[in-house]
Amino acid sequence: PADRIDAVVSLAKRRGFVFPSSEIYGGTRSAWDYGPLGVALKDNVRQQWWKTMVQQRDDIVGLDSAVILARDVWTASGHIDAFVDPLTECQSCHKRFRADHLEEAWEAKHGAPPTSLSELNCPNCGNKGTFTEPKMFNGLMKTYLGPTESADGLHYLRPETAQGIFVNYNNVATAARKKPPFGIAQVGKSFRNEITPGNFIFRTREFEQMEMEFFVAPGSDEEWHEYWLQQRWNWYLDLGLSEENLRFFEHPKEKLSHYSKRTVDIEYRFQFGGTEFAELEGVANRTDFDLKTHSKHSGVDLSFFDQEKQERWVPYVIEPAAGLTRAVLAFLLEAYDEDEAPNTKGGVDKRTVMRFDPRLAPVKVAVLPLSRNPELSPKARGLAETLRKRWMVEFDDSQAIGRRYRRQDEIGTPFCITVDFDTLTDDAVTVRDRDTMKQERVALDQIEDYLIKRLPG
Ligand code: ATP
Repeated sequence: PADRIDAVVSLAKRRGFVFPSSEIYGGTRSAWDYGPLGVALKDNVRQQWWKTMVQQRDDIVGLDSAVILARDVWTASGHIDAFVDPLTECQSCHKRFRADHLEEAWEAKHGAPPTSLSELNCPNCGNKGTFTEPKMFNGLMKTYLGPTESADGLHYLRPETAQGIFVNYNNVATAARKKPPFGIAQVGKSFRNEITPGNFIFRTREFEQMEMEFFVAPGSDEEWHEYWLQQRWNWYLDLGLSEENLRFFEHPKEKLSHYSKRTVDIEYRFQFGGTEFAELEGVANRTDFDLKTHSKHSGVDLSFFDQEKQERWVPYVIEPAAGLTRAVLAFLLEAYDEDEAPNTKGGVDKRTVMRFDPRLAPVKVAVLPLSRNPELSPKARGLAETLRKRWMVEFDDSQAIGRRYRRQDEIGTPFCITVDFDTLTDDAVTVRDRDTMKQERVALDQIEDYLIKRLPG
Protein backbone atom coordinates (compact mmCIF):
# COMPACT_ATOMS: atom_id res chain seq x y z
CA PRO A 1 0.00 0.00 0.00
CA ALA A 2 0.93 3.66 -0.39
CA ASP A 3 1.86 4.01 3.28
CA ARG A 4 4.42 1.23 2.91
CA ILE A 5 6.43 3.22 0.41
CA ASP A 6 6.10 6.33 2.60
CA ALA A 7 7.36 4.33 5.57
CA VAL A 8 10.31 3.07 3.53
CA VAL A 9 11.19 6.55 2.22
CA SER A 10 11.15 7.94 5.72
CA LEU A 11 13.15 5.06 7.19
CA ALA A 12 15.61 5.35 4.30
CA LYS A 13 16.28 8.97 5.12
CA ARG A 14 16.28 8.63 8.91
CA ARG A 15 18.68 5.69 8.97
CA GLY A 16 20.93 6.78 6.12
CA PHE A 17 19.97 4.56 3.22
CA VAL A 18 18.82 7.23 0.76
CA PHE A 19 18.76 11.02 1.01
CA PRO A 20 17.10 13.54 -1.31
CA SER A 21 19.93 14.92 -3.44
CA SER A 22 21.10 18.50 -2.74
CA GLU A 23 18.61 18.65 0.10
CA ILE A 24 20.07 21.75 1.78
CA TYR A 25 19.29 23.62 -1.45
CA GLY A 26 15.73 22.38 -1.56
CA GLY A 27 16.47 19.09 -3.28
CA THR A 28 16.08 18.02 -6.89
CA ARG A 29 13.13 15.85 -7.72
CA SER A 30 15.11 13.62 -9.98
CA ALA A 31 18.11 12.49 -7.95
CA TRP A 32 18.82 10.73 -4.70
CA ASP A 33 22.02 10.14 -2.77
CA TYR A 34 22.97 6.90 -1.08
CA GLY A 35 23.97 7.22 2.56
CA PRO A 36 26.23 4.98 4.65
CA LEU A 37 23.78 2.07 4.73
CA GLY A 38 22.49 2.65 1.19
CA VAL A 39 25.98 2.38 -0.25
CA ALA A 40 26.44 -0.94 1.52
CA LEU A 41 23.04 -2.28 0.43
CA LYS A 42 23.55 -1.22 -3.20
CA ASP A 43 27.01 -2.70 -3.18
CA ASN A 44 25.70 -5.99 -1.83
CA VAL A 45 23.05 -6.19 -4.57
CA ARG A 46 25.70 -5.42 -7.17
CA GLN A 47 28.04 -8.05 -5.73
CA GLN A 48 25.35 -10.72 -5.71
CA TRP A 49 24.56 -9.96 -9.35
CA TRP A 50 28.24 -10.09 -10.32
CA LYS A 51 28.74 -13.28 -8.41
CA THR A 52 25.90 -15.14 -10.15
CA MET A 53 26.43 -13.59 -13.57
CA VAL A 54 30.24 -13.55 -13.80
CA GLN A 55 32.15 -15.23 -10.97
CA GLN A 56 30.17 -18.46 -10.90
CA ARG A 57 30.08 -18.93 -14.67
CA ASP A 58 32.59 -20.01 -17.22
CA ASP A 59 30.70 -18.38 -20.10
CA ILE A 60 30.37 -14.76 -18.96
CA VAL A 61 33.08 -12.14 -18.50
CA GLY A 62 33.01 -8.58 -17.16
CA LEU A 63 33.56 -5.16 -18.66
CA ASP A 64 33.54 -1.55 -17.47
CA SER A 65 33.22 0.75 -20.47
CA ALA A 66 33.13 4.57 -20.57
CA VAL A 67 30.00 6.61 -19.89
CA ILE A 68 30.73 8.94 -22.82
CA LEU A 69 31.28 6.97 -26.01
CA ALA A 70 32.00 8.12 -29.54
CA ARG A 71 28.96 9.91 -30.95
CA ASP A 72 28.76 7.50 -33.87
CA VAL A 73 27.85 4.72 -31.45
CA TRP A 74 24.50 6.38 -30.77
CA THR A 75 23.80 7.03 -34.43
CA ALA A 76 24.43 3.36 -35.19
CA SER A 77 22.43 2.08 -32.22
CA GLY A 78 19.39 4.10 -33.27
CA HIS A 79 19.30 6.17 -30.08
CA ILE A 80 19.64 9.51 -31.84
CA ASP A 81 16.57 8.77 -33.97
CA ALA A 82 14.56 6.35 -31.90
CA PHE A 83 15.26 7.03 -28.21
CA VAL A 84 12.24 9.30 -28.01
CA ASP A 85 9.17 9.56 -25.83
CA PRO A 86 5.94 11.38 -26.62
CA LEU A 87 5.76 14.49 -24.43
CA THR A 88 2.51 16.26 -23.63
CA GLU A 89 1.79 19.22 -21.38
CA CYS A 90 -1.34 20.04 -19.41
CA GLN A 91 -2.39 23.54 -20.43
CA SER A 92 -4.05 24.21 -17.08
CA CYS A 93 -1.26 23.36 -14.65
CA HIS A 94 1.67 23.17 -17.11
CA LYS A 95 2.83 19.85 -15.81
CA ARG A 96 4.47 17.60 -18.40
CA PHE A 97 3.77 13.93 -18.88
CA ARG A 98 4.69 11.06 -21.10
CA ALA A 99 1.64 10.53 -23.27
CA ASP A 100 2.27 6.78 -23.43
CA HIS A 101 2.30 6.57 -19.61
CA LEU A 102 -1.03 8.42 -19.41
CA GLU A 103 -2.52 6.08 -22.00
CA GLU A 104 -1.22 3.00 -20.23
CA ALA A 105 -2.71 4.13 -16.92
CA TRP A 106 -6.08 4.69 -18.67
CA GLU A 107 -5.88 1.29 -20.32
CA ALA A 108 -5.09 -0.41 -16.99
CA LYS A 109 -8.24 1.16 -15.55
CA HIS A 110 -10.65 0.89 -18.49
CA GLY A 111 -9.41 -2.24 -20.25
CA ALA A 112 -8.91 -0.42 -23.57
CA PRO A 113 -6.72 2.46 -24.68
CA PRO A 114 -8.30 5.94 -24.93
CA THR A 115 -9.21 7.09 -28.45
CA SER A 116 -7.50 10.44 -27.83
CA LEU A 117 -5.71 12.34 -25.07
CA SER A 118 -8.71 14.68 -24.82
CA GLU A 119 -10.58 11.98 -22.89
CA LEU A 120 -8.06 12.05 -20.07
CA ASN A 121 -7.99 13.99 -16.84
CA CYS A 122 -4.70 15.52 -15.78
CA PRO A 123 -3.28 13.41 -12.89
CA ASN A 124 -1.97 16.63 -11.34
CA CYS A 125 -4.81 19.19 -11.53
CA GLY A 126 -7.69 16.92 -12.52
CA ASN A 127 -8.81 19.00 -15.49
CA LYS A 128 -10.00 17.16 -18.57
CA GLY A 129 -9.06 17.72 -22.18
CA THR A 130 -6.16 20.01 -21.42
CA PHE A 131 -3.31 18.07 -23.00
CA THR A 132 -1.31 19.37 -25.95
CA GLU A 133 -0.60 17.18 -29.00
CA PRO A 134 2.34 14.96 -28.01
CA LYS A 135 5.74 15.99 -29.33
CA MET A 136 8.62 13.55 -29.62
CA PHE A 137 11.32 14.23 -27.07
CA ASN A 138 14.79 12.66 -27.13
CA GLY A 139 15.87 11.25 -23.79
CA LEU A 140 19.62 11.39 -24.41
CA MET A 141 21.48 13.61 -21.95
CA LYS A 142 23.80 15.99 -23.81
CA THR A 143 27.18 17.32 -22.84
CA TYR A 144 30.05 19.10 -24.62
CA LEU A 145 33.59 17.81 -24.64
CA GLY A 146 36.45 20.28 -25.04
CA PRO A 147 36.71 24.00 -24.38
CA THR A 148 34.00 25.25 -26.74
CA GLU A 149 30.36 24.31 -26.90
CA SER A 150 30.52 23.62 -30.61
CA ALA A 151 28.65 21.02 -32.61
CA ASP A 152 31.90 19.04 -32.78
CA GLY A 153 32.03 18.76 -29.02
CA LEU A 154 28.47 17.50 -28.64
CA HIS A 155 28.39 14.12 -26.90
CA TYR A 156 25.92 12.02 -24.96
CA LEU A 157 25.94 10.37 -21.57
CA ARG A 158 25.02 6.74 -22.12
CA PRO A 159 21.32 5.90 -21.60
CA GLU A 160 22.23 2.20 -21.21
CA THR A 161 25.45 0.29 -20.61
CA ALA A 162 24.73 -2.18 -23.42
CA GLN A 163 26.29 -0.23 -26.30
CA GLY A 164 29.67 -0.12 -24.55
CA ILE A 165 29.50 -3.92 -24.61
CA PHE A 166 28.61 -4.20 -28.31
CA VAL A 167 31.40 -1.91 -29.45
CA ASN A 168 33.88 -3.97 -27.39
CA TYR A 169 32.59 -7.27 -28.69
CA ASN A 170 35.71 -8.11 -30.72
CA ASN A 171 38.11 -6.88 -28.03
CA VAL A 172 36.51 -9.00 -25.34
CA ALA A 173 35.96 -12.11 -27.43
CA THR A 174 39.60 -12.07 -28.56
CA ALA A 175 41.19 -11.18 -25.21
CA ALA A 176 39.09 -13.63 -23.18
CA ARG A 177 39.13 -16.27 -25.95
CA LYS A 178 35.35 -16.67 -25.92
CA LYS A 179 33.00 -17.68 -28.67
CA PRO A 180 29.22 -17.91 -28.71
CA PRO A 181 27.40 -18.85 -26.61
CA PHE A 182 29.03 -16.42 -24.19
CA GLY A 183 28.17 -13.20 -22.42
CA ILE A 184 29.61 -9.86 -21.36
CA ALA A 185 28.36 -8.23 -18.15
CA GLN A 186 28.59 -4.65 -17.02
CA VAL A 187 27.35 -2.58 -14.08
CA GLY A 188 27.35 1.20 -14.10
CA LYS A 189 25.62 4.52 -14.27
CA SER A 190 23.24 5.43 -17.07
CA PHE A 191 21.50 8.72 -17.74
CA ARG A 192 18.15 9.53 -19.27
CA ASN A 193 16.45 12.86 -19.50
CA GLU A 194 13.24 11.38 -18.11
CA ILE A 195 10.18 13.61 -18.50
CA THR A 196 8.62 12.40 -15.29
CA PRO A 197 11.17 11.14 -12.78
CA GLY A 198 9.51 9.99 -9.61
CA ASN A 199 8.37 7.34 -7.20
CA PHE A 200 11.48 7.74 -5.07
CA ILE A 201 14.44 5.88 -6.65
CA PHE A 202 12.22 3.97 -9.12
CA ARG A 203 12.70 6.45 -11.95
CA THR A 204 15.58 8.92 -11.81
CA ARG A 205 17.56 10.75 -14.47
CA GLU A 206 20.79 9.25 -13.19
CA PHE A 207 20.64 5.59 -12.21
CA GLU A 208 22.62 2.37 -12.22
CA GLN A 209 22.11 -0.63 -14.41
CA MET A 210 23.30 -4.23 -14.35
CA GLU A 211 23.27 -5.50 -17.91
CA MET A 212 24.48 -8.63 -19.59
CA GLU A 213 24.61 -9.27 -23.33
CA PHE A 214 24.61 -12.95 -24.16
CA PHE A 215 25.74 -13.80 -27.71
CA VAL A 216 24.29 -16.93 -29.26
CA ALA A 217 23.93 -18.70 -32.60
CA PRO A 218 20.88 -17.62 -34.61
CA GLY A 219 18.22 -20.28 -34.17
CA SER A 220 19.21 -20.97 -30.55
CA ASP A 221 18.05 -17.49 -29.47
CA GLU A 222 14.51 -18.39 -28.39
CA GLU A 223 15.70 -21.18 -26.15
CA TRP A 224 18.34 -18.96 -24.56
CA HIS A 225 15.74 -16.26 -24.02
CA GLU A 226 13.62 -18.68 -21.99
CA TYR A 227 16.70 -19.79 -20.08
CA TRP A 228 17.61 -16.23 -19.06
CA LEU A 229 14.05 -15.39 -18.06
CA GLN A 230 14.13 -18.29 -15.61
CA GLN A 231 17.63 -17.49 -14.33
CA ARG A 232 16.79 -13.88 -13.62
CA TRP A 233 13.45 -14.75 -12.00
CA ASN A 234 15.23 -17.25 -9.72
CA TRP A 235 17.86 -14.68 -8.78
CA TYR A 236 15.25 -12.31 -7.32
CA LEU A 237 13.48 -15.16 -5.53
CA ASP A 238 16.71 -16.46 -4.08
CA LEU A 239 17.51 -13.04 -2.64
CA GLY A 240 14.17 -12.77 -0.93
CA LEU A 241 11.56 -11.25 -3.23
CA SER A 242 8.40 -13.27 -2.80
CA GLU A 243 6.78 -15.00 -5.71
CA GLU A 244 3.44 -13.24 -5.30
CA ASN A 245 5.18 -9.89 -5.71
CA LEU A 246 6.72 -10.87 -9.04
CA ARG A 247 5.26 -11.49 -12.46
CA PHE A 248 6.31 -11.68 -16.09
CA PHE A 249 4.98 -9.13 -18.53
CA GLU A 250 5.11 -10.01 -22.21
CA HIS A 251 5.47 -6.90 -24.40
CA PRO A 252 2.85 -6.86 -27.15
CA LYS A 253 4.45 -7.36 -30.58
CA GLU A 254 3.33 -3.97 -31.90
CA LYS A 255 5.01 -2.13 -29.02
CA LEU A 256 8.45 -3.76 -29.21
CA SER A 257 11.56 -1.58 -29.45
CA HIS A 258 13.12 -1.27 -32.90
CA TYR A 259 15.76 -3.91 -32.13
CA SER A 260 13.63 -6.49 -30.35
CA LYS A 261 12.05 -9.76 -31.48
CA ARG A 262 10.56 -10.45 -28.07
CA THR A 263 10.81 -8.67 -24.71
CA VAL A 264 9.55 -9.97 -21.40
CA ASP A 265 9.80 -7.83 -18.28
CA ILE A 266 10.13 -9.12 -14.77
CA GLU A 267 7.77 -6.89 -12.83
CA TYR A 268 7.60 -6.23 -9.11
CA ARG A 269 4.58 -5.21 -7.07
CA PHE A 270 5.87 -1.73 -6.23
CA GLN A 271 2.30 -0.54 -5.61
CA PHE A 272 2.70 3.10 -6.50
CA GLY A 273 -0.59 4.98 -6.45
CA GLY A 274 -2.71 3.41 -9.15
CA THR A 275 -0.27 0.88 -10.57
CA GLU A 276 0.31 -2.44 -8.90
CA PHE A 277 3.20 -3.92 -10.84
CA ALA A 278 6.03 -2.10 -12.61
CA GLU A 279 9.16 -3.12 -14.48
CA LEU A 280 12.10 -4.35 -12.48
CA GLU A 281 14.12 -5.86 -15.30
CA GLY A 282 13.68 -6.27 -19.06
CA VAL A 283 14.83 -9.44 -20.79
CA ALA A 284 15.01 -8.86 -24.54
CA ASN A 285 15.87 -10.86 -27.61
CA ARG A 286 17.78 -8.12 -29.49
CA THR A 287 18.42 -10.38 -32.50
CA ASP A 288 21.53 -9.58 -34.55
CA PHE A 289 20.49 -5.92 -34.74
CA ASP A 290 23.30 -4.50 -32.61
CA LEU A 291 26.32 -6.28 -34.02
CA LYS A 292 25.00 -5.82 -37.56
CA THR A 293 24.41 -2.11 -37.23
CA HIS A 294 27.82 -1.55 -35.61
CA SER A 295 29.48 -3.62 -38.36
CA LYS A 296 27.76 -1.49 -40.95
CA HIS A 297 28.52 1.90 -39.40
CA SER A 298 32.09 1.16 -38.28
CA GLY A 299 33.18 -0.98 -41.19
CA VAL A 300 34.54 -3.56 -38.74
CA ASP A 301 33.28 -7.09 -39.26
CA LEU A 302 31.62 -8.39 -36.09
CA SER A 303 30.47 -11.70 -37.49
CA PHE A 304 31.62 -15.10 -36.29
CA PHE A 305 33.00 -18.00 -38.27
CA ASP A 306 31.50 -21.21 -36.99
CA GLN A 307 34.21 -23.87 -37.52
CA GLU A 308 31.87 -26.77 -36.87
CA LYS A 309 29.19 -25.71 -39.31
CA GLN A 310 31.66 -24.01 -41.67
CA GLU A 311 29.35 -21.00 -41.68
CA ARG A 312 29.65 -17.30 -40.98
CA TRP A 313 26.93 -15.64 -38.93
CA VAL A 314 26.26 -12.59 -36.78
CA PRO A 315 25.42 -13.59 -33.20
CA TYR A 316 21.97 -12.97 -31.77
CA VAL A 317 21.85 -11.23 -28.41
CA ILE A 318 19.78 -12.08 -25.35
CA GLU A 319 19.87 -9.19 -22.89
CA PRO A 320 18.78 -9.31 -19.26
CA ALA A 321 18.84 -5.58 -18.36
CA ALA A 322 18.26 -4.84 -14.70
CA GLY A 323 18.20 -1.61 -12.74
CA LEU A 324 20.51 -1.73 -9.74
CA THR A 325 18.92 1.26 -8.04
CA ARG A 326 15.45 0.00 -8.92
CA ALA A 327 16.30 -3.41 -7.47
CA VAL A 328 17.43 -1.67 -4.27
CA LEU A 329 13.93 -0.18 -4.01
CA ALA A 330 12.32 -3.60 -4.50
CA PHE A 331 14.53 -5.15 -1.81
CA LEU A 332 13.77 -2.26 0.58
CA LEU A 333 10.02 -2.60 0.06
CA GLU A 334 10.08 -6.37 0.38
CA ALA A 335 12.19 -6.27 3.55
CA TYR A 336 10.00 -3.76 5.39
CA ASP A 337 7.95 -5.35 8.16
CA GLU A 338 6.33 -4.43 11.44
CA ASP A 339 5.76 -6.84 14.31
CA GLU A 340 6.04 -6.97 18.08
CA ALA A 341 8.95 -7.56 20.39
CA PRO A 342 8.87 -8.28 24.14
CA ASN A 343 9.95 -5.36 26.31
CA THR A 344 11.59 -5.36 29.75
CA LYS A 345 8.28 -4.62 31.50
CA GLY A 346 6.83 -7.95 30.43
CA GLY A 347 4.73 -6.38 27.67
CA VAL A 348 5.34 -5.95 23.97
CA ASP A 349 6.55 -3.05 21.84
CA LYS A 350 5.94 -2.48 18.17
CA ARG A 351 9.08 -2.94 16.17
CA THR A 352 10.06 -2.16 12.61
CA VAL A 353 12.26 -4.81 11.10
CA MET A 354 13.97 -4.92 7.72
CA ARG A 355 14.03 -8.60 6.83
CA PHE A 356 16.88 -8.40 4.33
CA ASP A 357 18.48 -11.60 3.16
CA PRO A 358 21.72 -11.72 5.19
CA ARG A 359 23.71 -11.40 1.95
CA LEU A 360 22.08 -8.02 1.31
CA ALA A 361 21.95 -6.66 4.87
CA PRO A 362 24.25 -3.61 5.07
CA VAL A 363 25.42 -4.43 8.59
CA LYS A 364 25.88 -8.12 9.35
CA VAL A 365 26.62 -8.01 13.05
CA ALA A 366 26.13 -5.54 15.90
CA VAL A 367 28.27 -5.87 19.00
CA LEU A 368 26.55 -4.49 22.09
CA PRO A 369 28.00 -4.40 25.61
CA LEU A 370 25.09 -4.87 28.01
CA SER A 371 25.90 -1.52 29.55
CA ARG A 372 28.57 1.12 29.21
CA ASN A 373 31.10 -0.22 31.66
CA PRO A 374 34.92 -0.09 31.97
CA GLU A 375 35.16 -3.86 31.75
CA LEU A 376 32.43 -4.72 29.22
CA SER A 377 33.05 -1.99 26.67
CA PRO A 378 36.73 -2.82 25.93
CA LYS A 379 35.89 -6.52 25.68
CA ALA A 380 33.07 -5.78 23.24
CA ARG A 381 35.23 -3.35 21.25
CA GLY A 382 37.89 -6.02 20.91
CA LEU A 383 35.32 -8.49 19.58
CA ALA A 384 33.99 -5.91 17.12
CA GLU A 385 37.54 -5.28 15.86
CA THR A 386 38.05 -8.99 15.23
CA LEU A 387 34.74 -9.44 13.40
CA ARG A 388 35.32 -6.32 11.25
CA LYS A 389 38.06 -8.15 9.37
CA ARG A 390 35.31 -10.20 7.75
CA TRP A 391 32.04 -8.28 8.01
CA MET A 392 30.44 -4.87 8.32
CA VAL A 393 30.07 -4.54 12.09
CA GLU A 394 28.47 -1.86 14.25
CA PHE A 395 29.49 -1.22 17.82
CA ASP A 396 26.88 0.51 19.98
CA ASP A 397 26.98 1.07 23.74
CA SER A 398 24.54 3.94 24.12
CA GLN A 399 21.07 3.63 25.72
CA ALA A 400 19.14 0.61 26.92
CA ILE A 401 19.79 -2.73 25.26
CA GLY A 402 16.17 -2.99 24.04
CA ARG A 403 16.51 0.34 22.21
CA ARG A 404 19.73 -0.86 20.63
CA TYR A 405 18.09 -4.08 19.41
CA ARG A 406 15.29 -1.98 17.87
CA ARG A 407 17.82 0.20 16.07
CA GLN A 408 19.53 -2.86 14.56
CA ASP A 409 16.19 -4.48 13.61
CA GLU A 410 15.25 -1.31 11.78
CA ILE A 411 18.31 -1.54 9.54
CA GLY A 412 18.04 -5.30 9.12
CA THR A 413 21.15 -6.45 11.00
CA PRO A 414 20.86 -10.27 11.11
CA PHE A 415 22.76 -10.78 14.39
CA CYS A 416 23.26 -8.81 17.60
CA ILE A 417 25.95 -10.01 19.96
CA THR A 418 25.67 -8.99 23.58
CA VAL A 419 28.67 -8.93 25.85
CA ASP A 420 27.47 -9.14 29.47
CA PHE A 421 28.96 -9.63 32.92
CA ASP A 422 28.96 -13.41 32.56
CA THR A 423 31.18 -12.99 29.53
CA LEU A 424 33.96 -11.88 31.88
CA THR A 425 33.93 -15.30 33.53
CA ASP A 426 32.51 -17.79 30.99
CA ASP A 427 34.08 -16.33 27.82
CA ALA A 428 30.77 -16.59 25.99
CA VAL A 429 28.34 -14.10 24.47
CA THR A 430 24.64 -13.97 23.66
CA VAL A 431 23.71 -13.99 19.99
CA ARG A 432 20.26 -12.69 19.08
CA ASP A 433 18.61 -13.56 15.79
CA ARG A 434 16.84 -10.63 14.07
CA ASP A 435 13.84 -12.60 12.81
CA THR A 436 13.11 -15.06 15.59
CA MET A 437 14.53 -12.82 18.36
CA LYS A 438 15.80 -16.06 19.92
CA GLN A 439 18.98 -15.81 21.94
CA GLU A 440 21.75 -18.31 22.09
CA ARG A 441 24.88 -18.49 24.22
CA VAL A 442 27.98 -19.01 22.11
CA ALA A 443 31.57 -19.41 23.27
CA LEU A 444 33.81 -16.55 22.16
CA ASP A 445 36.25 -18.91 20.45
CA GLN A 446 33.31 -20.35 18.44
CA ILE A 447 31.70 -17.07 17.44
CA GLU A 448 33.39 -16.62 14.07
CA ASP A 449 32.51 -20.14 12.94
CA TYR A 450 28.97 -19.63 14.20
CA LEU A 451 28.61 -16.52 12.05
CA ILE A 452 30.40 -17.95 9.01
CA LYS A 453 27.79 -20.73 8.91
CA ARG A 454 24.92 -18.27 9.06
CA LEU A 455 26.28 -15.45 6.89
CA PRO A 456 26.87 -16.81 3.41
CA GLY A 457 28.94 -14.60 1.10
P1 ATP B 1 10.73 2.18 -18.29
O1 ATP B 1 9.69 1.59 -19.19
O2 ATP B 1 10.46 1.98 -16.83
O3 ATP B 1 11.14 3.58 -18.65
P2 ATP B 1 12.66 0.89 -19.92
O4 ATP B 1 11.86 -0.22 -20.47
O5 ATP B 1 12.95 2.08 -20.72
O6 ATP B 1 12.06 1.33 -18.51
P3 ATP B 1 15.12 -0.48 -20.11
O7 ATP B 1 15.63 0.35 -21.20
O8 ATP B 1 14.65 -1.87 -20.41
O9 ATP B 1 13.99 0.30 -19.33
O10 ATP B 1 16.22 -0.52 -18.97
C1 ATP B 1 16.52 -1.68 -18.23
C2 ATP B 1 16.33 -1.45 -16.74
O11 ATP B 1 17.00 -0.26 -16.31
C3 ATP B 1 14.87 -1.23 -16.33
O12 ATP B 1 14.23 -2.46 -16.15
C4 ATP B 1 15.03 -0.50 -15.01
O13 ATP B 1 15.27 -1.42 -13.95
C5 ATP B 1 16.27 0.32 -15.23
N1 ATP B 1 15.90 1.71 -15.57
C6 ATP B 1 15.58 2.21 -16.78
N2 ATP B 1 15.30 3.52 -16.70
C7 ATP B 1 15.46 3.87 -15.39
C8 ATP B 1 15.33 5.09 -14.66
N3 ATP B 1 15.01 6.24 -15.27
N4 ATP B 1 15.57 5.08 -13.33
C9 ATP B 1 15.92 3.93 -12.71
N5 ATP B 1 16.06 2.76 -13.33
C10 ATP B 1 15.84 2.71 -14.66
